[in-house]
Amino acid sequence: LLKIANARVGGGGAMPSGLPLIEQMAIETGLRAALEQDQLTLEYQPIFDADHGVAAIEALVRWRRPSGEIVSPDVFIPVAESSGLIAQLDRWVMAHAIRDVGSLRGTPLASVQVNINITADELLDPGLSGRLTSLALEHQVDCERICLELTERSMMTDPQRVQAVMTRLRALGFKISIDDFGTGYSSLSRIMSLPVTSIKMDRMFVRGLPDDTKSGAIVRTILGLGKHSQLPVVAEGVENERQALYLLQFGCSHFQGYLFGRPAPLDQLLDKLSMPSG
Ligand code: C2E
Ligand code: MG
Ligand code: MG
Ligand code: MG
Repeated sequence: LLKIANARVGGGGAMPSGLPLIEQMAIETGLRAALEQDQLTLEYQPIFDADHGVAAIEALVRWRRPSGEIVSPDVFIPVAESSGLIAQLDRWVMAHAIRDVGSLRGTPLASVQVNINITADELLDPGLSGRLTSLALEHQVDCERICLELTERSMMTDPQRVQAVMTRLRALGFKISIDDFGTGYSSLSRIMSLPVTSIKMDRMFVRGLPDDTKSGAIVRTILGLGKHSQLPVVAEGVENERQALYLLQFGCSHFQGYLFGRPAPLDQLLDKLSMPSG
């Protein structure tokens, strides 16, 4: 399963980000300034539960340069990771996302879960659980409403320490989801032995549904794995009804993608949810 998936991933130049050094440096300088000058913002994308509406919202960081140019997270996150800025960025996102969900009392999203992407650097930082619990306390958000999304790659950087950190976070009530599931190079048995609470199936598998038989086989395998492990599976990148119907037919419980809602500023998302036909 993982080998099939990985056939699509590959590539990469000398820099981990795949960018020429000079561009990487320009992004790093700009990002450092953006963090200092508060040029980052958050958008939120809903995750739907097949039975109950919006189950969670995923915080996605956005960076618009003073020139107006928008830089994609797919470009600046890898640069942040290789330049050591990622922990600072992850902390900025955690603080703002938890503050944002704390502000949702009295709205249709009053008890929604917030999903926050974090990287290996921040996961393995000894201060993480303390930072999360004090943010939760400060903004009166139950720890159970905070879900950390970690990619397989992050989980495999130092498996023993990762396991210990995850166990501690789970004991405090935080949830943990495996992001982009199926795209890493990790061993399936190892990844499934970690104390996670849900699986996010990467959108590359959803893309080919329902016609591509290989995508279909992988998707059904991941859904079966979720069922066997009693873990909800979130399908990422659901863009059309045919994909959604296929997923529903094979037991997928949670859906995220342009069909259900694009990432948007929180107030826009709330406006949409308050309207009768969204
Ligand atoms: P991800 O965590 O897998 O996030 C999902 C990405 O898929 C988002 O891209 C989202 O806009 C996009 N997406 C959602 N639905 C659809 C769809 O139906 N079709 C298509 N084609 N795309 C869809 P985005 O916002 O560009 O983020 C890219 C990646 O950057 C994220 O992948 C995540 O790994 C990383 N990232 C984003 N925000 C943060 C953050 O705050 N911290 C960290 N550490 N990483 C972040
Ligand atoms: Mg994510
Ligand atoms: Mg993902
Ligand atoms: Mg993804």
